[in-house]
Amino acid sequence: MNIHIPRGTQDILPGEVEKWQLIEKKARELCEKFQYKEIRTPIFEHTELFLRSVGDTTDIVQKEMYTFQDKGDRSLTLRPEGTASTVRSFVENKMFGYADQPVKLFYMGPMFRYERPQAGRYRQFVQFGVEALGSADPAIDAEVIALAMSIYQSLGLKQLKLIVNSLGDKESRQAHKDALINHFKPRIEEFCSDCQNRLEKNPMRILDCKKDREHELMKSAPSILDFLNEDSKKYFDKVQKYLTDLDIKFEVDPNLVRGLDYYNHTAFEIMSESEGFGAITTLCGGGRYNGLVEELGGPETPGIGFAFSVERFIAALGAEKIDLQMDEGIDCYLVSLGEEAKDYTVGLLHKLRREGFSAERDYLDRKIKTQFKAADRLKAKYVAVLGEDELKANKINLKSMETGEQKEVPLDSFVEEFKSIVKH
Ligand code: AMP
Repeated sequence: MNIHIPRGTQDILPGEVEKWQLIEKKARELCEKFQYKEIRTPIFEHTELFLRSVGDTTDIVQKEMYTFQDKGDRSLTLRPEGTASTVRSFVENKMFGYADQPVKLFYMGPMFRYERPQAGRYRQFVQFGVEALGSADPAIDAEVIALAMSIYQSLGLKQLKLIVNSLGDKESRQAHKDALINHFKPRIEEFCSDCQNRLEKNPMRILDCKKDREHELMKSAPSILDFLNEDSKKYFDKVQKYLTDLDIKFEVDPNLVRGLDYYNHTAFEIMSESEGFGAITTLCGGGRYNGLVEELGGPETPGIGFAFSVERFIAALGAEKIDLQMDEGIDCYLVSLGEEAKDYTVGLLHKLRREGFSAERDYLDRKIKTQFKAADRLKAKYVAVLGEDELKANKINLKSMETGEQKEVPLDSFVEEFKSIVKH
C-alpha cells in the first residue's frame, strides 16, 4: 500500500515554493525596516504553556492540540501558535531587562492544529507573526497593524479590509462579562454544549462560536464598546487616530473577539474582500495581550502582536489574480556534444557557478536539440555550445537567447568573457 500525506498537510513543490520564499523575503525585509528581530523557538513546548496562555476554554486548547507524552512521560504539545512560545522565551531569557525597549520580535514557522481541514484551514500551516513587548503606547498598536498591512501590500494585495475592536481592560471586560452572562443565561440551553460550559467562565467565547453563530441572542448581545471605561476608551480612540494618521482605512466591529483568551484592548483582523476568496476570509489576526507576561511568570509587561498564515496569503494572491513574476531564468546553459566536450563542461559549469552565475548542463546524454529545449524550459539567457571541433580549436559558441546573436569566445577565458558580457 502506498503511503499518503497526512490529512490537512501539504507538500510545497518547486514552482510553488518560490511564492513562499518571496512572502518570507518581503516579510523579513519589512521587519528589518520596522526593526523587528527574528526569534526561533522550539516546535514543541510543555502543554502547560498553552493551557495557561491560550486559555483552557478556547477551541485550540479544548479540541485542536497535538499533545503527546514523550518517553520521559512529560506532556508536550506541538505549538498551535507562536505568541505563547515567544512570551515564554521573553520571560526565560529576561528580555524585559534589555536596554532597548520595547522588544520587537518576529517568527516564522509551522504551527499545528487538529482542525477540520478545508480550503484555507490546515492541520500544519506556516505562521508569520510579530510581537512587541514592553510598551503600552497605542502608537505601537498602530505600528503593528501598519506592518501587517505593508507586508500584504508589498506583494500587490488590494482587496483588504481591516477590522478593529477594543476588548477593554480588565475592569471593562468584567463589566461586559457580567452583562453577557445575564444576556445568555436565561436561554443557554438553546446553545451548544461548548457555549453552555463557557457561560460562567468565559462568556465572550460564546460570541466566537462557530455552531451558534445565527442564534438571535448573538445579534442582540451586549457590545463591549458600551462597557469600556474611560482609560480603555481613550486608548482605543488613540489607536484609531494613529491609524487614520497613517492613512490606514479600518472599520470598527464590536463583535470581533478573536479565538484566544489572552487579548485585551486592541483586537484586529485583516480580511480578504476578493470575490474569489473562499468562505474563510480572515487573513491575519492580532491584538494586545497585557497581562500575558505576568501569567507566564515575568514582570508586568504590556504586549501586542499578530500572526498570519502563508497559506492564506497565497490564497489571497490567487483570488486577486496576482501573478508573481518569480521565475527569472538561469544565466547560462551549457550544451555539449561528444564525450570530451561533455567532460569539459563539468568543470566549466562549476566555474560559472563559483562566479555567481546560475548555470546548468545536461546530465542525460541528450541530443543537441533536446538540450536546447531544456535550456528553453529553464529560461536560459545564454546558451554556450561546445562540440568536439570547438574544443580542439579552443572556442565555445555563445548565443544570446534574447537577441539570437551568436559569438565565438575563447574557451580558456570563457568565464571572464561571460562576466564582461552579462555584467550581473
Ligand atoms: P489565530 O492564531 O487563530 O489568531 O490565527 C491567526 C492567523 O493564522 C489566521 O488569520 C490565519 O491566517 C492563520 N491560521 C489559523 N489557523 C489556520 C489553519 N488551520 N490553517 C491555515 N491558516 C491558519
